[in-house]
Amino acid sequence: MAAQARRKLIAGNWKMNKTIPEGLALVRELKGLVASLPGDRVELAVAPPFVSLQAVAKELEGSAVKLAAQNCHWEASGAYTGEVSAAMLKDVGCAYVIVGHSERRQYFGETDETVNKRTRAVVGAGMTPIICVGETLTEREANRTLEVVERQVAGALKGFQAAEVAGFVLAYEPVWAIGTGRTATSAQAQEVHRAIREQLGRLYDRGTAERVLIQYGGSVKPDNAAELLGQPDVDGALVGGASLKAGDFSAIAKGGV
Ligand code: PEP
Repeated sequence: MAAQARRKLIAGNWKMNKTIPEGLALVRELKGLVASLPGDRVELAVAPPFVSLQAVAKELEGSAVKLAAQNCHWEASGAYTGEVSAAMLKDVGCAYVIVGHSERRQYFGETDETVNKRTRAVVGAGMTPIICVGETLTEREANRTLEVVERQVAGALKGFQAAEVAGFVLAYEPVWAIGTGRTATSAQAQEVHRAIREQLGRLYDRGTAERVLIQYGGSVKPDNAAELLGQPDVDGALVGGASLKAGDFSAIAKGGV
């Protein structure tokens, strides 16, 4: 499959923002702004906090915008106070689950091993994982970017078959670019995306590597989206801050068309 044939996926990670009424107002406005986008070329998803998922799912009925969760536990059920299972997220209407976001790695002890276990749970429940990888500034400055990212990719995908991985979404999110206003240049993003795709080719095969969507994340805004999304191996964006405003998020999505 040619690189151009991959659709773009623009996903908004709301993080710990928006009450239910605020979230509903945001998706109502968003639906109107993106209604005319060609769905075969650009797909949108929003990842509200857990407590808003059900209300947002209802608001999204009949719209092409998909629902995503920001995390999930790897166990199916049981005594795991405060956790949410993949089956619960599927039940509420999620199509995607973000796994291994750098904030979870940084503040909540997420490791390559737990990312792998969460990914297994997401896939087992019939949803698509959005697996986040990315280096810190210290690692980039020590020229360790590709080593770190490749370790995270290999760790997340351990034990998965090519047919499963072909449907996965990876998100390259340099930690130094998240929420900082500092974006990777399109050349920096393309270099890492290309390296990830080559790694997928080595781990699996070229056909699988060409099918995996690799999003970029890190201070994506309306004014830098088109340039980033225009790179041959950048298949979408994982958007934090700018996804909290319908106008900005829809403008980013339009940059992917
Ligand atoms: C993110 O949280 O995944 C992210 C990329 O955030 P921001 O767009 O705010 O940098």
